[in-house]
Amino acid sequence: MATRDKATNQLVDYKNSLSQNDVATTSHGTRIPEKDATMTVGIRGPVLIQDNHFIEEIAHFDRERIPERVVHAKGAGAFGYFEVTHDISKYSAAKVFSTIGKKTPVAVRFSTVGGEAGSADTVRDPRGFAVKFYTEDGIWDLVGNNTPIFFIRDPIFFPSFIHTQKRNPQTHLKDPDMFWDFHSLRPETMHQFLFLFADRGIPDGYRHMNGYGSHTFKLVNKEGKVHYCKFHYKTDQGIKNLDVKKAEVLSGTDPDYSIRDLFNAIANGQYPSWTYYLQIMTPEQATACKFNPFDLTKIWPHADYPLIKFGKMVLNRNPENYFAEVEQIAFSPAHLVPGIEPSPDKMLQGRLFAYGDTHRHRLGPNYLQLPVNCPFKVRNFQRDGPMCFNNQGNAPNYHPNSFGGPDVDEDVKTLYQPFSVAGDAYRYDTGDQDNFSQARDFYHGVLDGAAKERLISNIVNNLSAASAFIQDRCVRNFAQVDKNLSERIAEGLKVVQRTKANL
Ligand code: NDP
Repeated sequence: MATRDKATNQLVDYKNSLSQNDVATTSHGTRIPEKDATMTVGIRGPVLIQDNHFIEEIAHFDRERIPERVVHAKGAGAFGYFEVTHDISKYSAAKVFSTIGKKTPVAVRFSTVGGEAGSADTVRDPRGFAVKFYTEDGIWDLVGNNTPIFFIRDPIFFPSFIHTQKRNPQTHLKDPDMFWDFHSLRPETMHQFLFLFADRGIPDGYRHMNGYGSHTFKLVNKEGKVHYCKFHYKTDQGIKNLDVKKAEVLSGTDPDYSIRDLFNAIANGQYPSWTYYLQIMTPEQATACKFNPFDLTKIWPHADYPLIKFGKMVLNRNPENYFAEVEQIAFSPAHLVPGIEPSPDKMLQGRLFAYGDTHRHRLGPNYLQLPVNCPFKVRNFQRDGPMCFNNQGNAPNYHPNSFGGPDVDEDVKTLYQPFSVAGDAYRYDTGDQDNFSQARDFYHGVLDGAAKERLISNIVNNLSAASAFIQDRCVRNFAQVDKNLSERIAEGLKVVQRTKANL
């Protein structure tokens, strides 16, 4: 079977790894004498209720599914390590960064965003790129994407925005009116839409794309000094994207293309890696910055905030069991460690709550006890609840107590300095806050002529399915990025219209 790839050959490899077959048991561990028949009265039945083995198996089967993630439902996972290559301890006291050469185990989950668990991998969509660092100070999750920005800057829009990327409530179909209506009514989506409809909108698998922490985070050093930062993790395999036609074909012929590619690369010893960088902004620079550095629709220009290299991540192990290690892995931007804190970024603040909340719904209140989510001994006052298997033994379950704590760690206190916030509490609609200048930089400064042509063609093909009044509104918004871009899209839409009329 030398011609089969590693993913296709998984069962054969499994068999070859065994020295002998195991004996089958019930889930309470007793050996099973017969697996090819239910227990019946006579050869024609009926089935006896005393056939506990059958009842147990069918009842478990009935409960195999857990709720799929509302977003990022389709994904692939892998394990490996993060290694510090350059000292950044002047910015952060996080133990994960403490010495050059230090290695920390990681788990990564890549995903598409809008599709369901069975959807195709090669669609135009952002990709999730979430990294779990199993640090000696607890779990740090960097729950990023393959893009440094996002569509919206206020989490109040998140449920609505995601609804527009999913299915129409009546037709149960993806709906171009929903998709483009929201985009055109909320032009802060423009920067991310241009990324999405340019070449990086369909990466060639998960190994050839960058990751970005996207949000602004706050780093704290051992003196308690604060810097704001962005995390970038750039692929060492080089950026590779899929041509639109090839992606369409793959959606039909190999909808699991990206999962297969990652599994085979790791199984063949071609371990993908990424180089980690920081961008740093002092609080004084943040105050003086001409754009809002906590706005998730904005990048920090490289020229003003240069990339600082600090690490490398290698993925060298495939999961042994997809459900246990990938479906049940639970990332949260709120999983931070001493030395890394949230910034005021409104989207980050919204996500700090949302991720833990969704895991409690999907996996239950003890989701952090699952081995892939927490391999450490945890000491706190939480107890009981469904599926609790680390209930902290006979230790006291209240605070304060006189019987051995656990106690707080005075050593990390300097890392959690008071911070000031000021302003009038209000619902500030930020819809008209500079939505176009960085989108314009992207269109003019990043895309060459051929990339611009592909962007226009991708937009026209997709937007042409929306209602005419929505198309018009989009064209007006594109004019605020670039007059020529808008005219070319308008022209393209007319050509599609004429072609349809002549059919
Ligand atoms: P630079 O010229 O220094 O950076 C441009 C960056 O664009 C490149 O470094 C690369 O990011 C990225 N890029 C190249 N092709 C594409 C593509 N098809 N889709 C998405 N990104 C691409 O400029 P600035 O830092 O001043 O930023 C100018 C514009 O570049 C921004 O408005 C933004 O749209 C875009 N950009 C900026 C990034 C940043 O963090 N500063 C990151 C990504 C894009 P990379 O090196 O990360 O691969």
